[in-house]
Amino acid sequence: MEFETVIGLEIHAQMKTKSKIFCGCSTEFGAPPNTHVCPVCLGMPGVLPVLNKQVVENGIKLALATDLTINRENRFARKNYFYPDLPKGYQISQFELPIAEHGQVEIEVNGTRKKIGITRAHMEEDAGKLVHDEKEPVSYVDLNRTGTPLLEIVSEPDIRSPEEAVAYLKKIHAIVRYLDISDGNMQEGSFRCDANISLRPEGQEEFGIRTELKNMNSFRNVQLALEYEVRRQRDILLDGGHIVQETLLWNPDKGCTESMRGKEEAHDYRYFPDPDLVPIVIDEEWITRVRENLPELPVQRCRRFIDDFELSEYDAGILTSSRELADFFEEALSQYNNPKKLGNWIGTELLREYSPENIGSCPVGAEQLARLLNMVEEGTISGKIAKNVFVDMLESGADPDDIVKEKDLVQMSDEGELLAFVREIINENADQAQQFRDGKTKVMGFFVGQLMKKTKGQANPQLANKLFLQELG
Ligand code: ADP
Ligand code: MG
Ligand code: ZN
Repeated sequence: MEFETVIGLEIHAQMKTKSKIFCGCSTEFGAPPNTHVCPVCLGMPGVLPVLNKQVVENGIKLALATDLTINRENRFARKNYFYPDLPKGYQISQFELPIAEHGQVEIEVNGTRKKIGITRAHMEEDAGKLVHDEKEPVSYVDLNRTGTPLLEIVSEPDIRSPEEAVAYLKKIHAIVRYLDISDGNMQEGSFRCDANISLRPEGQEEFGIRTELKNMNSFRNVQLALEYEVRRQRDILLDGGHIVQETLLWNPDKGCTESMRGKEEAHDYRYFPDPDLVPIVIDEEWITRVRENLPELPVQRCRRFIDDFELSEYDAGILTSSRELADFFEEALSQYNNPKKLGNWIGTELLREYSPENIGSCPVGAEQLARLLNMVEEGTISGKIAKNVFVDMLESGADPDDIVKEKDLVQMSDEGELLAFVREIINENADQAQQFRDGKTKVMGFFVGQLMKKTKGQANPQLANKLFLQELG
Protein backbone atom coordinates (compact mmCIF):
# COMPACT_ATOMS: atom_id res chain seq x y z
CA MET A 1 0.00 0.00 0.00
CA GLU A 2 1.24 3.51 -0.80
CA PHE A 3 0.73 6.46 1.55
CA GLU A 4 0.49 10.17 1.01
CA THR A 5 2.14 12.50 3.51
CA VAL A 6 0.15 15.47 4.86
CA ILE A 7 1.93 18.27 6.73
CA GLY A 8 0.81 21.58 8.25
CA LEU A 9 3.24 24.00 9.93
CA GLU A 10 2.81 26.41 12.81
CA ILE A 11 5.58 29.01 12.67
CA HIS A 12 6.45 31.40 15.47
CA ALA A 13 8.38 34.45 14.33
CA GLN A 14 9.71 36.71 17.03
CA MET A 15 9.15 40.33 16.10
CA LYS A 16 12.11 42.66 15.81
CA THR A 17 10.77 45.44 18.03
CA LYS A 18 12.76 47.47 20.56
CA SER A 19 10.28 46.84 23.36
CA LYS A 20 7.95 44.03 24.33
CA ILE A 21 4.37 43.69 23.17
CA PHE A 22 2.57 45.05 26.25
CA CYS A 23 5.24 46.94 28.22
CA GLY A 24 8.35 49.06 27.67
CA CYS A 25 10.92 46.37 28.56
CA SER A 26 13.70 45.67 26.08
CA THR A 27 13.53 42.59 23.84
CA GLU A 28 17.33 42.31 23.62
CA PHE A 29 18.59 38.73 23.44
CA GLY A 30 21.26 37.40 25.79
CA ALA A 31 20.96 39.88 28.67
CA PRO A 32 21.60 38.56 32.23
CA PRO A 33 18.53 36.60 33.42
CA ASN A 34 15.55 38.58 34.69
CA THR A 35 16.99 42.01 33.96
CA HIS A 36 14.48 42.97 31.23
CA VAL A 37 11.35 42.61 33.32
CA CYS A 38 8.73 44.83 34.94
CA PRO A 39 5.43 44.31 36.82
CA VAL A 40 3.53 43.99 33.52
CA CYS A 41 5.59 41.20 31.94
CA LEU A 42 6.02 39.56 35.35
CA GLY A 43 2.24 39.31 35.50
CA MET A 44 1.80 41.12 38.83
CA PRO A 45 -1.80 41.52 39.96
CA GLY A 46 -3.49 44.74 38.95
CA VAL A 47 -1.14 45.73 36.10
CA LEU A 48 -2.51 46.62 32.68
CA PRO A 49 -1.06 45.80 29.25
CA VAL A 50 -0.55 48.55 26.66
CA LEU A 51 -0.25 47.33 23.06
CA ASN A 52 2.92 48.07 21.08
CA LYS A 53 1.72 49.59 17.80
CA GLN A 54 4.73 48.29 15.89
CA VAL A 55 3.59 44.71 16.45
CA VAL A 56 0.28 45.43 14.70
CA GLU A 57 2.12 47.18 11.89
CA ASN A 58 4.36 44.12 11.45
CA GLY A 59 1.25 41.94 11.29
CA ILE A 60 -0.14 44.15 8.53
CA LYS A 61 3.14 43.89 6.62
CA LEU A 62 3.12 40.12 6.83
CA ALA A 63 -0.52 39.98 5.77
CA LEU A 64 0.18 42.13 2.69
CA ALA A 65 3.20 40.01 1.74
CA THR A 66 1.36 36.68 1.99
CA ASP A 67 -2.04 37.58 0.54
CA LEU A 68 -3.77 37.33 3.90
CA THR A 69 -7.05 39.16 4.44
CA ILE A 70 -6.71 41.61 7.31
CA ASN A 71 -9.45 41.55 9.93
CA ARG A 72 -10.15 45.26 10.21
CA GLU A 73 -11.33 44.62 13.70
CA ASN A 74 -9.52 41.92 15.64
CA ARG A 75 -8.84 41.24 19.28
CA PHE A 76 -6.73 39.55 21.89
CA ALA A 77 -7.80 36.51 23.87
CA ARG A 78 -6.47 34.84 26.97
CA LYS A 79 -5.10 31.34 26.53
CA ASN A 80 -5.10 29.79 29.98
CA TYR A 81 -2.55 27.23 31.07
CA PHE A 82 -0.15 26.70 33.95
CA TYR A 83 3.55 26.44 33.42
CA PRO A 84 6.43 27.89 35.43
CA ASP A 85 7.63 30.04 32.52
CA LEU A 86 4.26 31.80 32.29
CA PRO A 87 3.88 34.01 35.35
CA LYS A 88 0.34 35.26 34.62
CA GLY A 89 -1.13 31.78 34.23
CA TYR A 90 -2.35 32.82 30.79
CA GLN A 91 -0.80 33.91 27.54
CA ILE A 92 -2.28 36.87 25.69
CA SER A 93 -2.88 35.61 22.17
CA GLN A 94 -5.53 35.87 19.49
CA PHE A 95 -8.18 33.24 18.93
CA GLU A 96 -11.47 33.66 17.09
CA LEU A 97 -10.49 37.01 15.58
CA PRO A 98 -6.81 36.98 14.53
CA ILE A 99 -5.22 39.92 12.74
CA ALA A 100 -5.30 38.15 9.36
CA GLU A 101 -6.62 35.00 7.65
CA HIS A 102 -6.75 33.07 4.35
CA GLY A 103 -3.46 33.77 2.62
CA GLN A 104 -0.96 31.82 0.55
CA VAL A 105 2.59 31.65 -0.68
CA GLU A 106 4.13 29.93 -3.65
CA ILE A 107 6.92 27.41 -3.20
CA GLU A 108 9.05 25.55 -5.71
CA VAL A 109 10.40 22.03 -5.24
CA ASN A 110 12.36 20.27 -8.00
CA GLY A 111 11.14 22.75 -10.57
CA THR A 112 7.46 22.33 -9.67
CA ARG A 113 5.57 25.32 -8.31
CA LYS A 114 2.78 25.03 -5.82
CA LYS A 115 0.67 27.25 -3.61
CA ILE A 116 0.52 26.58 0.12
CA GLY A 117 -2.46 28.05 1.93
CA ILE A 118 -2.01 30.04 5.11
CA THR A 119 -4.90 29.59 7.51
CA ARG A 120 -4.16 32.54 9.75
CA ALA A 121 -1.60 34.80 11.34
CA HIS A 122 -2.03 36.09 14.84
CA MET A 123 -0.17 38.22 17.37
CA GLU A 124 0.78 36.90 20.78
CA GLU A 125 3.29 37.23 23.58
CA ASP A 126 6.13 34.77 24.16
CA ALA A 127 6.64 32.95 27.46
CA GLY A 128 9.82 32.89 29.56
CA LYS A 129 12.52 30.26 29.47
CA LEU A 130 13.32 27.46 31.90
CA VAL A 131 16.97 26.62 32.42
CA HIS A 132 17.51 23.13 33.77
CA ASP A 133 20.55 22.60 35.95
CA GLU A 134 22.70 19.77 34.68
CA LYS A 135 23.88 18.58 38.11
CA GLU A 136 21.27 19.65 40.64
CA PRO A 137 17.64 18.52 40.28
CA VAL A 138 16.47 22.14 39.97
CA SER A 139 15.29 24.46 37.23
CA TYR A 140 15.69 28.20 36.96
CA VAL A 141 13.40 30.59 35.21
CA ASP A 142 14.49 33.53 33.05
CA LEU A 143 11.63 35.89 32.32
CA ASN A 144 13.47 38.21 29.92
CA ARG A 145 11.64 36.65 26.98
CA THR A 146 8.22 36.92 28.64
CA GLY A 147 6.13 39.37 26.63
CA THR A 148 8.37 39.34 23.54
CA PRO A 149 6.07 39.84 20.55
CA LEU A 150 5.42 36.90 18.24
CA LEU A 151 3.54 36.39 15.02
CA GLU A 152 2.23 32.87 14.71
CA ILE A 153 1.65 31.76 11.14
CA VAL A 154 -0.45 28.61 10.67
CA SER A 155 -0.48 26.80 7.33
CA GLU A 156 -3.23 24.72 5.79
CA PRO A 157 -2.46 20.99 5.64
CA ASP A 158 -1.38 21.53 1.99
CA ILE A 159 2.20 20.32 2.31
CA ARG A 160 2.92 16.86 0.88
CA SER A 161 6.55 16.08 1.69
CA PRO A 162 9.41 17.07 4.02
CA GLU A 163 11.02 18.90 1.05
CA GLU A 164 7.88 20.99 0.55
CA ALA A 165 7.77 21.71 4.29
CA VAL A 166 11.33 23.05 4.24
CA ALA A 167 10.67 25.06 1.06
CA TYR A 168 7.60 26.63 2.68
CA LEU A 169 9.49 27.34 5.90
CA LYS A 170 12.32 28.96 3.94
CA LYS A 171 9.81 31.04 1.97
CA ILE A 172 8.19 32.42 5.14
CA HIS A 173 11.67 32.94 6.59
CA ALA A 174 12.71 34.92 3.52
CA ILE A 175 9.54 37.03 3.69
CA VAL A 176 9.95 38.04 7.34
CA ARG A 177 13.61 38.85 6.65
CA TYR A 178 12.79 40.93 3.56
CA LEU A 179 10.08 42.73 5.56
CA ASP A 180 12.63 43.17 8.34
CA ILE A 181 10.02 42.26 10.96
CA SER A 182 12.00 39.36 12.49
CA ASP A 183 15.70 38.57 12.60
CA GLY A 184 14.79 34.96 11.76
CA ASN A 185 17.58 33.55 13.93
CA MET A 186 16.67 29.89 14.43
CA GLN A 187 19.50 29.12 16.88
CA GLU A 188 18.34 31.87 19.21
CA GLY A 189 14.77 30.69 18.87
CA SER A 190 13.43 33.80 17.16
CA PHE A 191 12.09 31.69 14.27
CA ARG A 192 10.60 28.37 15.38
CA CYS A 193 8.33 25.83 13.87
CA ASP A 194 6.06 23.00 14.98
CA ALA A 195 5.11 20.49 12.33
CA ASN A 196 1.89 18.47 12.23
CA ILE A 197 2.18 15.35 10.15
CA SER A 198 -0.03 12.43 9.18
CA LEU A 199 -0.20 9.78 6.47
CA ARG A 200 -3.22 8.57 4.51
CA PRO A 201 -3.60 5.74 2.02
CA GLU A 202 -3.10 7.04 -1.55
CA GLY A 203 -6.48 8.12 -2.91
CA GLN A 204 -8.18 8.53 0.47
CA GLU A 205 -9.92 11.88 1.05
CA GLU A 206 -9.95 11.89 4.84
CA PHE A 207 -6.79 12.87 6.72
CA GLY A 208 -5.05 10.39 9.00
CA ILE A 209 -4.27 10.84 12.69
CA ARG A 210 -1.47 13.36 13.12
CA THR A 211 1.44 13.86 15.45
CA GLU A 212 2.96 17.21 16.25
CA LEU A 213 6.75 17.66 16.17
CA LYS A 214 8.41 20.29 18.31
CA ASN A 215 11.88 21.57 19.00
CA MET A 216 13.32 21.84 15.52
CA ASN A 217 15.80 24.69 15.43
CA SER A 218 17.22 24.41 11.94
CA PHE A 219 15.94 23.74 8.41
CA ARG A 220 18.00 20.58 8.41
CA ASN A 221 16.36 19.31 11.61
CA VAL A 222 12.89 19.99 10.20
CA GLN A 223 13.76 17.90 7.16
CA LEU A 224 15.28 15.06 9.20
CA ALA A 225 12.51 14.99 11.82
CA LEU A 226 9.78 14.86 9.19
CA GLU A 227 11.58 12.15 7.20
CA TYR A 228 11.93 10.13 10.38
CA GLU A 229 8.26 10.59 11.26
CA VAL A 230 7.12 9.55 7.76
CA ARG A 231 9.06 6.30 8.16
CA ARG A 232 7.84 5.70 11.73
CA GLN A 233 4.16 6.28 10.88
CA ARG A 234 4.44 4.24 7.69
CA ASP A 235 5.89 1.25 9.54
CA ILE A 236 3.10 1.36 12.13
CA LEU A 237 0.37 1.63 9.49
CA LEU A 238 1.84 -1.14 7.34
CA ASP A 239 1.93 -3.27 10.45
CA GLY A 240 -1.82 -2.76 10.88
CA GLY A 241 -1.30 -0.48 13.88
CA HIS A 242 -2.80 2.91 14.75
CA ILE A 243 -1.08 6.26 15.11
CA VAL A 244 -1.42 7.82 18.54
CA GLN A 245 -2.16 11.54 18.40
CA GLU A 246 0.62 13.03 20.48
CA THR A 247 3.25 15.71 20.73
CA LEU A 248 6.76 14.54 19.84
CA LEU A 249 10.14 16.10 20.46
CA TRP A 250 12.85 15.80 17.85
CA ASN A 251 16.09 14.58 19.40
CA PRO A 252 18.83 15.70 16.99
CA ASP A 253 21.54 13.72 18.81
CA LYS A 254 19.75 10.40 18.59
CA GLY A 255 18.09 11.24 15.27
CA CYS A 256 14.62 10.21 16.39
CA THR A 257 11.40 11.63 17.79
CA GLU A 258 10.38 11.07 21.42
CA SER A 259 6.99 11.36 23.04
CA MET A 260 6.47 14.57 25.00
CA ARG A 261 2.81 14.39 25.91
CA GLY A 262 -0.17 12.38 24.76
CA LYS A 263 -3.64 13.55 23.90
CA GLU A 264 -4.97 12.75 27.37
CA GLU A 265 -2.84 15.60 28.62
CA ALA A 266 -3.99 17.92 25.83
CA HIS A 267 -4.77 21.36 27.13
CA ASP A 268 -8.16 22.92 27.47
CA TYR A 269 -7.13 26.53 27.11
CA ARG A 270 -10.50 28.08 28.06
CA TYR A 271 -9.98 30.97 25.65
CA PHE A 272 -11.92 34.18 26.20
CA PRO A 273 -11.49 37.78 24.98
CA ASP A 274 -8.97 39.64 27.11
CA PRO A 275 -10.97 42.22 29.08
CA ASP A 276 -7.87 44.38 29.63
CA LEU A 277 -7.37 45.16 25.94
CA VAL A 278 -9.76 46.93 23.59
CA PRO A 279 -10.34 45.51 20.09
CA ILE A 280 -7.78 46.60 17.52
CA VAL A 281 -9.22 48.63 14.69
CA ILE A 282 -7.17 48.83 11.50
CA ASP A 283 -8.40 51.44 9.04
CA GLU A 284 -7.84 51.58 5.29
CA GLU A 285 -5.51 54.52 5.64
CA TRP A 286 -3.14 52.57 7.86
CA ILE A 287 -3.11 49.60 5.48
CA THR A 288 -2.46 51.92 2.52
CA ARG A 289 0.41 53.62 4.31
CA VAL A 290 2.01 50.28 5.18
CA ARG A 291 1.50 49.01 1.62
CA GLU A 292 3.16 52.08 0.13
CA ASN A 293 6.18 51.63 2.38
CA LEU A 294 6.53 47.91 1.88
CA PRO A 295 10.12 46.97 0.98
CA GLU A 296 10.91 44.99 -2.14
CA LEU A 297 9.82 41.36 -1.67
CA PRO A 298 11.48 38.17 -3.01
CA VAL A 299 9.20 37.89 -6.07
CA GLN A 300 9.82 41.50 -7.10
CA ARG A 301 13.52 41.34 -6.48
CA CYS A 302 13.76 38.16 -8.54
CA ARG A 303 11.91 39.89 -11.40
CA ARG A 304 14.27 42.86 -11.20
CA PHE A 305 17.35 40.59 -11.22
CA ILE A 306 16.05 38.93 -14.40
CA ASP A 307 15.24 42.23 -16.09
CA ASP A 308 18.21 44.34 -15.00
CA PHE A 309 20.99 41.78 -14.84
CA GLU A 310 19.79 39.40 -17.57
CA LEU A 311 20.01 36.44 -15.23
CA SER A 312 18.10 33.25 -15.85
CA GLU A 313 14.96 32.75 -13.80
CA TYR A 314 16.68 29.89 -12.03
CA ASP A 315 19.77 31.90 -11.04
CA ALA A 316 17.72 34.95 -10.04
CA GLY A 317 15.50 32.69 -7.91
CA ILE A 318 18.49 31.33 -6.01
CA LEU A 319 20.17 34.71 -5.59
CA THR A 320 17.00 36.25 -4.14
CA SER A 321 16.05 33.25 -2.00
CA SER A 322 17.31 35.07 1.07
CA ARG A 323 17.62 38.77 1.62
CA GLU A 324 21.18 38.37 2.91
CA LEU A 325 22.27 36.63 -0.28
CA ALA A 326 20.54 39.14 -2.55
CA ASP A 327 22.16 42.00 -0.63
CA PHE A 328 25.52 40.25 -0.86
CA PHE A 329 25.12 39.83 -4.62
CA GLU A 330 24.18 43.45 -5.22
CA GLU A 331 26.95 44.74 -2.99
CA ALA A 332 29.53 42.67 -4.85
CA LEU A 333 28.03 43.76 -8.15
CA SER A 334 28.64 47.41 -7.33
CA GLN A 335 32.36 46.61 -7.60
CA TYR A 336 32.46 43.78 -10.09
CA ASN A 337 30.15 44.50 -12.95
CA ASN A 338 29.53 41.08 -14.45
CA PRO A 339 26.23 39.73 -13.06
CA LYS A 340 26.41 36.43 -14.92
CA LYS A 341 29.92 35.52 -13.80
CA LEU A 342 29.29 36.75 -10.27
CA GLY A 343 26.06 34.76 -10.08
CA ASN A 344 27.80 31.60 -11.27
CA TRP A 345 30.61 32.05 -8.82
CA ILE A 346 28.20 32.55 -5.90
CA GLY A 347 26.05 29.66 -7.07
CA THR A 348 28.93 27.20 -7.13
CA GLU A 349 31.83 28.28 -4.91
CA LEU A 350 29.94 30.15 -2.19
CA LEU A 351 26.70 28.18 -1.90
CA ARG A 352 28.67 24.95 -1.77
CA GLU A 353 29.74 26.02 1.72
CA TYR A 354 26.97 28.33 2.93
CA SER A 355 23.22 28.13 2.49
CA PRO A 356 21.40 31.32 1.37
CA GLU A 357 20.04 31.76 4.90
CA ASN A 358 23.51 31.49 6.45
CA ILE A 359 25.44 33.91 4.25
CA GLY A 360 25.65 36.23 7.24
CA SER A 361 28.07 33.85 8.95
CA CYS A 362 30.40 33.63 5.94
CA PRO A 363 33.73 35.33 6.73
CA VAL A 364 34.16 36.51 3.13
CA GLY A 365 32.50 39.85 2.51
CA ALA A 366 30.93 40.95 -0.78
CA GLU A 367 33.72 43.44 -1.31
CA GLN A 368 36.39 40.75 -0.91
CA LEU A 369 34.70 38.46 -3.41
CA ALA A 370 34.43 41.34 -5.90
CA ARG A 371 38.12 42.06 -5.41
CA LEU A 372 39.01 38.41 -6.07
CA LEU A 373 36.99 38.32 -9.29
CA ASN A 374 38.52 41.58 -10.41
CA MET A 375 41.96 40.05 -9.95
CA VAL A 376 40.93 37.35 -12.45
CA GLU A 377 39.53 39.97 -14.81
CA GLU A 378 42.77 41.99 -14.63
CA GLY A 379 44.79 38.84 -15.35
CA THR A 380 46.56 38.94 -11.99
CA ILE A 381 45.53 35.38 -11.24
CA SER A 382 43.88 32.64 -13.27
CA GLY A 383 40.30 31.52 -12.70
CA LYS A 384 41.57 28.20 -11.45
CA ILE A 385 43.88 29.73 -8.90
CA ALA A 386 41.06 32.05 -7.82
CA LYS A 387 39.03 29.06 -6.70
CA ASN A 388 41.86 27.94 -4.42
CA VAL A 389 42.32 31.45 -3.10
CA PHE A 390 38.60 31.53 -2.32
CA VAL A 391 38.89 28.36 -0.24
CA ASP A 392 41.65 30.09 1.74
CA MET A 393 39.49 33.18 2.15
CA LEU A 394 36.63 31.09 3.53
CA GLU A 395 39.00 29.54 6.05
CA SER A 396 40.86 32.61 7.18
CA GLY A 397 38.70 35.55 6.17
CA ALA A 398 41.88 37.13 4.74
CA ASP A 399 41.90 39.52 1.77
CA PRO A 400 42.59 37.97 -1.63
CA ASP A 401 45.49 40.37 -2.28
CA ASP A 402 47.25 39.20 0.87
CA ILE A 403 46.76 35.52 0.07
CA VAL A 404 47.97 35.93 -3.51
CA LYS A 405 51.00 37.88 -2.35
CA GLU A 406 51.85 35.57 0.52
CA LYS A 407 51.52 32.38 -1.53
CA ASP A 408 53.10 33.94 -4.59
CA LEU A 409 50.23 33.05 -6.90
CA VAL A 410 50.42 35.95 -9.33
CA GLN A 411 49.85 34.73 -12.87
CA MET A 412 52.90 34.67 -15.10
CA SER A 413 52.18 37.02 -17.98
CA ASP A 414 55.70 38.02 -18.77
CA GLU A 415 56.35 36.93 -22.33
CA GLY A 416 60.11 36.54 -22.00
CA GLU A 417 59.83 34.49 -18.85
CA LEU A 418 57.22 32.14 -20.33
CA LEU A 419 59.02 31.84 -23.65
CA ALA A 420 62.01 30.25 -21.92
CA PHE A 421 59.75 27.57 -20.45
CA VAL A 422 57.96 27.05 -23.78
CA ARG A 423 61.22 26.46 -25.66
CA GLU A 424 62.46 24.11 -22.97
CA ILE A 425 59.26 22.04 -23.17
CA ILE A 426 59.36 21.84 -26.94
CA ASN A 427 62.99 20.63 -26.81
CA GLU A 428 62.17 18.00 -24.23
CA ASN A 429 59.24 16.69 -26.26
CA ALA A 430 60.45 16.49 -29.83
CA ASP A 431 58.01 13.71 -30.73
CA GLN A 432 54.96 15.66 -29.73
CA ALA A 433 56.31 18.74 -31.46
CA GLN A 434 56.61 16.76 -34.68
CA GLN A 435 53.07 15.42 -34.24
CA PHE A 436 51.81 18.98 -33.94
CA ARG A 437 53.64 20.05 -37.07
CA ASP A 438 52.11 17.05 -38.86
CA GLY A 439 48.70 18.46 -38.09
CA LYS A 440 47.78 16.77 -34.84
CA THR A 441 46.72 20.06 -33.22
CA LYS A 442 45.26 18.26 -30.21
CA VAL A 443 48.78 17.97 -28.82
CA MET A 444 48.49 21.63 -27.89
CA GLY A 445 46.62 20.52 -24.76
CA PHE A 446 49.60 18.41 -23.77
CA PHE A 447 52.02 21.30 -24.19
CA VAL A 448 49.95 23.76 -22.18
CA GLY A 449 49.56 21.08 -19.53
CA GLN A 450 53.34 20.69 -19.31
CA LEU A 451 53.75 24.42 -18.95
CA MET A 452 51.16 24.55 -16.17
CA LYS A 453 53.05 21.80 -14.38
CA LYS A 454 56.30 23.72 -14.59
CA THR A 455 54.70 26.96 -13.45
CA LYS A 456 52.44 25.49 -10.76
CA GLY A 457 49.37 26.57 -12.74
CA GLN A 458 50.45 30.18 -12.85
CA ALA A 459 51.12 30.60 -16.58
CA ASN A 460 48.64 32.86 -18.35
CA PRO A 461 46.77 30.34 -20.53
CA GLN A 462 46.08 32.70 -23.47
CA LEU A 463 49.70 33.75 -23.60
CA ALA A 464 50.85 30.13 -23.30
CA ASN A 465 48.76 29.15 -26.30
CA LYS A 466 50.05 31.99 -28.34
CA LEU A 467 53.69 31.25 -27.55
CA PHE A 468 53.42 27.53 -28.36
CA LEU A 469 51.74 28.30 -31.68
CA GLN A 470 54.45 30.75 -32.52
CA GLU A 471 57.31 28.45 -31.51
CA LEU A 472 55.88 25.33 -33.18
CA GLY A 473 55.60 27.25 -36.39
P1 ADP B 1 -3.94 22.69 17.09
O1 ADP B 1 -4.39 24.03 17.55
O2 ADP B 1 -4.40 21.56 17.94
O3 ADP B 1 -2.48 22.63 16.87
P2 ADP B 1 -4.91 23.26 14.42
O4 ADP B 1 -6.22 22.89 13.83
O5 ADP B 1 -4.66 24.67 14.68
O6 ADP B 1 -4.67 22.38 15.70
O7 ADP B 1 -3.83 22.71 13.39
C1 ADP B 1 -2.50 22.96 13.53
C2 ADP B 1 -1.76 22.60 12.26
O8 ADP B 1 -1.96 21.22 11.97
C3 ADP B 1 -2.19 23.35 11.03
O9 ADP B 1 -1.03 23.80 10.37
C4 ADP B 1 -2.91 22.32 10.19
O10 ADP B 1 -2.73 22.55 8.83
C5 ADP B 1 -2.26 21.04 10.61
N1 ADP B 1 -3.08 19.84 10.51
C6 ADP B 1 -4.35 19.67 10.91
N2 ADP B 1 -4.76 18.42 10.70
C7 ADP B 1 -3.71 17.74 10.16
C8 ADP B 1 -3.50 16.39 9.73
N3 ADP B 1 -4.43 15.44 9.84
N4 ADP B 1 -2.30 16.07 9.23
C9 ADP B 1 -1.31 16.99 9.14
N5 ADP B 1 -1.46 18.25 9.52
C10 ADP B 1 -2.64 18.64 10.03
MG1 MG C 1 -0.65 22.96 17.41
ZN1 ZN D 1 8.03 44.45 31.11
